[in-house]
Parts: sequence; structure tokens; C-alpha cells
Amino acid sequence: MREVLEAVRQSIEQAALGSGRRSEEITLVAVSKFATLEQVYQAIACGQMDFGENRADKLLEKTAVISDSVRWHFIGQLQTNKVKYIIDKVSMVQSLDRLSLAKELDKRAAKAGRVVPALLEVRLNDNPERGGVPPEEVEPLLEQCASFAHLRVQGLMCVAPLGCDAKTTEDCFERVRSLFEHLKTRCPDNASMQVLSMGMSHDYVAAIRHGATMVRIGSAIFAPQQGKS
Ligand SMILES: *Cc1c(COP(=O)(O)O)cnc(C)c1O
Repeated sequence: MREVLEAVRQSIEQAALGSGRRSEEITLVAVSKFATLEQVYQAIACGQMDFGENRADKLLEKTAVISDSVRWHFIGQLQTNKVKYIIDKVSMVQSLDRLSLAKELDKRAAKAGRVVPALLEVRLNDNPERGGVPPEEVEPLLEQCASFAHLRVQGLMCVAPLGCDAKTTEDCFERVRSLFEHLKTRCPDNASMQVLSMGMSHDYVAAIRHGATMVRIGSAIFAPQQGKS
């Protein structure tokens, strides 16, 4: 685990330096959705503090036994009726993609006496079932979210379309980066554009080149080679 995490951190650093940034400007979220508890403990022992989960039940299984100091990022499609179970467990919801979810997050966060940080998920494919907001609907949603006192939008998240070539992936990242930069100049008071979460195991180097400040890496950390840890 230590070698694998170190290798990922080094390639993040290389990519950051290559785009004139420091590695501290990029947050590594270790996506533990297919990891065992044992692997998560090993990663924590190596100093990894940010983890990502895409299902409420799996998140709850892990938070039930893993210490509070870990930061959990919710990165999957979130059903409104699951919000109440996870609201006091997550440090950020990265998959905010509709007003009804924003309302529920705000309501439950208020009840829990907290403010929940969130990212708006930009949808880059034609399949509404995969979650996310089409790029042209991001700004209106951002404006609507700004009225909620217990929700803070802090940036954008995206997933490059499955199975597309490197050029298309880079075009997608560039598109989201320019939306991010555009929104920075017109962000409502209650929101900010600081976090650009894009890049997974196979495309994080490209994502960093295109301005990612947060990468979400699962298989490259937890399943780099079958049978090895
Ligand atoms: C699973 C997942 C990741 C990590 O994917 P890997 O290819 O395993 O690195 C990142 N983001 C989201 C939204 C995911 O669901």
C-alpha cells in the first residue's frame, strides 16, 4: 500500500509541477468503494485522510467502524431519501445535481446543526440516468443553491464519458475548466469556485493538466495489480 500510494502521489506531483502548481494544491481522494476495510486502514496508516464512496450503504458501513478524523466525500448519485443517513458523516457531497437534492441537503444539514460543502456535478454524456447537470444548467443551479444557508457550493465535479479517447477526455476537462473559471467571476455570495474535482485512475494526469484541484482515484490505489498490496 505504501509504495502504491507513494507512486500515485509522485505522479500527482509531477503533473502539478508540469502545470506550474505545487502538489499541495491538489487533493487526493482515495476512492474506497471497492476497497476492503483493511485496505482503508492501511491507507490511513500511510497518511491518507480523504476517501470517496459512491453509495450511502457502503459509506455507512465504513463510517461505523473507521475513526472520525477521516474525511468522507460522497461521489455517487445520491437519492434524496438517503440524505438523512449520511448528512453527519460526509465532509463533502460532490454529486449535487438538482434543486430537490440541494433542498434536502440544506434541510438535513440545518437539523444536524452544520453546513455541508458540496460540488455541482457537471454531466458530460448524453445519459441523464448517470447523474450530473448539463453544462448549460450549472449556472442556474448554482444561483438557486446560493439561497440555502446550510449548503455551500465550493466548486465543480465531473467524470469524463466512459470509453472515450484521450483527446475527447481532454476536451471534456477543458470545457469544465472554462465553466469553472467563468463561474468564478459570477459566483453568488454564499458560494465559491475553489474546488475542481476531476480525474480518476486512468485520466488524472490529464485532469491535473487541465486544472483539477482534486482527483478521485480508486483502482490505481486499491487494485493496482491483482494479488498485490
Ligand atoms: C469509482 C469512481 C472513481 C474512481 O474510479 P477509478 O477508476 O477506480 O479510479 C472516481 N469518481 C467517481 C464518481 C467514481 O464513481
